[in-house]
Amino acid sequence: MSDIEIARAASKLPIHEIGTKLGIGYENLVPYGHDKAKISASFLASLRDRPDGRLILVTAINPTPAGEGKTTTTVGLVDGLNRIGRRALVCVREPSLGPCFGIKGGAAGGGHAQVVPMEDINLHFTGDFHAITSAHNLLAAMIDNHIYWGNDEDIDTRRVTWRRVVDMNDRALRQMVGALGGARNGFPRETGFDITVASEVMAILCLASDPADLETRLGGIVVGYRRDKSPVFARDIKADGAMAVLLKDAMQPNLVQTLENNPALVHGGPFANIAHGCNSVVATKAALKLADYVVTEAGFGADLGAEKFFNIKCRKAGLKPAAAVVVATVRALKMNGGIAKSDLAQENVAAVVRGAVNLGRHVENIRKFGVPVIVAINHFTSDTPQEVAAVQAFAKELGVEAILCRHWAEGGAGIEELAQKVAALADSGIADFQPLYPDDMPLLEKIEAVAKGIYRASMVTVDRTAAEQLAQFEAMGYGALPVCIAKTQYSFSTDPAALGAPENHKVHVREVRLSAGAGFVVAVTGDIMTMPGLPRVPAAESIRLRQDGMIEGLF
Ligand code: ADP
Ligand code: MG
Repeated sequence: MSDIEIARAASKLPIHEIGTKLGIGYENLVPYGHDKAKISASFLASLRDRPDGRLILVTAINPTPAGEGKTTTTVGLVDGLNRIGRRALVCVREPSLGPCFGIKGGAAGGGHAQVVPMEDINLHFTGDFHAITSAHNLLAAMIDNHIYWGNDEDIDTRRVTWRRVVDMNDRALRQMVGALGGARNGFPRETGFDITVASEVMAILCLASDPADLETRLGGIVVGYRRDKSPVFARDIKADGAMAVLLKDAMQPNLVQTLENNPALVHGGPFANIAHGCNSVVATKAALKLADYVVTEAGFGADLGAEKFFNIKCRKAGLKPAAAVVVATVRALKMNGGIAKSDLAQENVAAVVRGAVNLGRHVENIRKFGVPVIVAINHFTSDTPQEVAAVQAFAKELGVEAILCRHWAEGGAGIEELAQKVAALADSGIADFQPLYPDDMPLLEKIEAVAKGIYRASMVTVDRTAAEQLAQFEAMGYGALPVCIAKTQYSFSTDPAALGAPENHKVHVREVRLSAGAGFVVAVTGDIMTMPGLPRVPAAESIRLRQDGMIEGLF
């Protein structure tokens, strides 16, 4: 059965019954149909004095085209925890439309570990991304309008950094000249579109602690520079108030359920390269008040996702993770061991062992944050017992447990052992979380701390303009921000083909960007796409609406 068939066969509870499981009265839900609801802002504010549950991060080895299954494992683990009698809640990101119609498919989990209604979650859901798109583009429109009506702020039209966004993979929009067609259309200038999940507004929505903080951060967005190089803020354009209004509902977390009727918060979805790649702080903090165990996911492998979760989200939101789960698959380890995708179905214990260095590196890295680790082997039907045993033996040498999990095939029943171990690890109190670097370190040294400590590079070089900009950001008062490094997700290094555990490589920072409202400085290594394209045969070609109103071909 395909993911969509399994999801459609789910016997969902009405959303208010899911709310009841969390102790949320109907009056505190804002229902979107029968199976989705937002949790009201006033209810969230009333939770402030409750004790927090334990936060568990699900991360993974470096992704390969073979697929790892972080979302699937996050959802499965919560079903497993609930099965063993623990009150657990999922916290994951909302999918973007772009990849849905491109190559990746959905982002609501897979097999018997999914959040539902998966069609809605993967498509328009509760409209959050549309609201973010609108707020972002309102600011863009107000900038050009400001320039059109006389440019009182003296914005240098060559230095407007704020682009436009749309939630679609559309390479034709990457680079363009706007305002063509004569004086009535304004002043022509070079610009372009990014995908909505790359918007700073998305990152802001996900890091803001409440509506007031949201508005302050929106006002702090740097939209461009004057001729004297001083920054122009969104608040100078007076866009922050209206943007916050457009985001009022989007700030409230979305409640849905797993296939086994356990509660799930699906909220926000920033990119994991030029942004921090985790669901909203508002959802995570609410979840910690509502459940004893909160299982959340960070994008890509642990070198990007977990690092940003710890150094950006946890640092800024004051979160203290109690445990981390690293998802590994035999297939992906074999690819890290040099096996081609077409040969993954054949047993190859030696390749598993060779590739396991990638897993080992991630485990070591997470320990540097003081967070205890456990490995989840996400079982695929082609895995052999010898291959699984090889991963477990490798893990044992590292002093970490590796538990075989069959949640994709069996749901919560297939992941009870991991659930027991994770709960015990989180309850043990051995976690002693600290970020990798302090706030008061110079920006370049922070980049080096991550590049050397996590990527195991031997040196970092920086383009001259980028180095000047880093100095400028510090002079502007942004030196205490954490860094958000955009790097290929396929390797510890900046070379996507260098699998396994490369070390002593060089990291070159090509470009830096200031996300002043979100609160981080982006360092770009290599080519990072903020507007993806569609593949030769996009998934959209096989998506159809059936006569009975059902969606076909989504996944
Ligand atoms: P990630 O969150 O790491 O990107 P997902 O959990 O979204 O990964 O899974 C990616 C795809 O892999 C999904 O289509 C899912 O159905 C599939 N998948 C995950 N685990 C398994 C498994 N054990 N066997 C087969 N397919 C799986
Ligand atoms: Mg995922």
